[in-house]
Amino acid sequence: MDIEFDREHIWHPYSSMTDPLPARGVLQAQGCSLLLDDGQEVVDGMSSWWCAIHGYNHPQLNEAIFSQSKKMAHVMFGGLTHASAIKLAKKLIKITLEPLQHVFFADSGSVAVEVALKMAFQYWQGKGRENKDKILTIFNGYHGDTLGAMSVCDPVTGMHSLFKDILPKHLFAKAPPCPYGGAWASSCFSDFKEILIKHQENIAAVILEPIVQGAGGMKFYHPQFLREIRALCDEYGVLLILDEIATGFGRTGKLFGYEHANICPDIMCVGKALTGGYLTLAATMTTEEVASGVSAKGTPLMHGPTFMANPLACAVGLASIELLLSKDWQAEVLRIETFLKNELAPLKAFPQVADVRVLGAIGVVELKEVVDMTKVQEVFVSKGVWLRPFGNLIYTMPPFIVSEEELMKIVSAIFAGVEVCS
Ligand code: PMP
Repeated sequence: MDIEFDREHIWHPYSSMTDPLPARGVLQAQGCSLLLDDGQEVVDGMSSWWCAIHGYNHPQLNEAIFSQSKKMAHVMFGGLTHASAIKLAKKLIKITLEPLQHVFFADSGSVAVEVALKMAFQYWQGKGRENKDKILTIFNGYHGDTLGAMSVCDPVTGMHSLFKDILPKHLFAKAPPCPYGGAWASSCFSDFKEILIKHQENIAAVILEPIVQGAGGMKFYHPQFLREIRALCDEYGVLLILDEIATGFGRTGKLFGYEHANICPDIMCVGKALTGGYLTLAATMTTEEVASGVSAKGTPLMHGPTFMANPLACAVGLASIELLLSKDWQAEVLRIETFLKNELAPLKAFPQVADVRVLGAIGVVELKEVVDMTKVQEVFVSKGVWLRPFGNLIYTMPPFIVSEEELMKIVSAIFAGVEVCS
């Protein structure tokens, strides 16, 4: 594999062309393993960034792609439609809460977030409330890398300083200091409440990742925070957008993160595991109230990606959801959760470790100092594991099919990685 060419010509995520981070060649992937071009097999503890919940090269998902490709790989969605989009939309409507009846198929998570923000702004424009042009969110959030999505990411880790004159300015409240599983105190909500009430006239929507804040810090917060927000949004006429791109499809132990709090969003984004990691596809779902509000003045929803509702992606998305629901996925996720809770717990005693937390099939070790990613990754790969830490976090969210033996490998690699961080 021409890794030299790759290094000189191809950008990788959050990487520089002048001083690129190393990238390893992958020859193929099967189950939970990636075969590297030096012949080594590594267990993928990242599920390709939350996506590959069923593992790689799954016969049912492969078959969905093959049979769709014989009909058509792609067709424009403007003025045309197809059975795979219709079936997937029906399935999404069925497995989510009853008020979520309308589906916009986007081509990535960030785009789904852009569409959600546009829906919220257009909804209020339709009601003659053009002054509602702000979004309220919390620190440590992450919603994607496009400009609109980035404007609601954590201002520090979301790189606002690089684009400060370009990004729209939105409102940020303190991230909830009440962790998942801990005690709730009404003070956890006071900052958010104060800001929402103060700026109610200008706030179109609140956007949040439910329960798990992913790339902004891998923090798990108390479900009561979501319940309070839902009630406050209702009281003050603000829409609630839930970004379920990372949490959706079982990752936190519930099919969707909102189930932890028993609330329903007005707008919701899904992506990542939607296609089991096969193709890029996301969706923004909303209610009848928002959908009709968006077009109250006769304006269409102004978004239409070239690859909207790509048939291959929709076909594999449907197959992935059917596969998930055909299994006792809750038991799979609980098994991973129990294993990670037990096996990672001793790390809490390490002086370089600030916290260890596990929820569903997500295990996080927060260190006191920033991790040297290249050095730690060397250790992981030498232990036969693929993990990609960021900041001061080493974390894993393996495919749901991961075996005990593979989980043990991941845990041992995390221990070895933490040891070199001392
Ligand atoms: N929202 C959340 C919560 C995410 O975790 C991500 C991806 N890391 C996104 C949005 C953006 O999705 P994508 O990378 O597909 O654009």
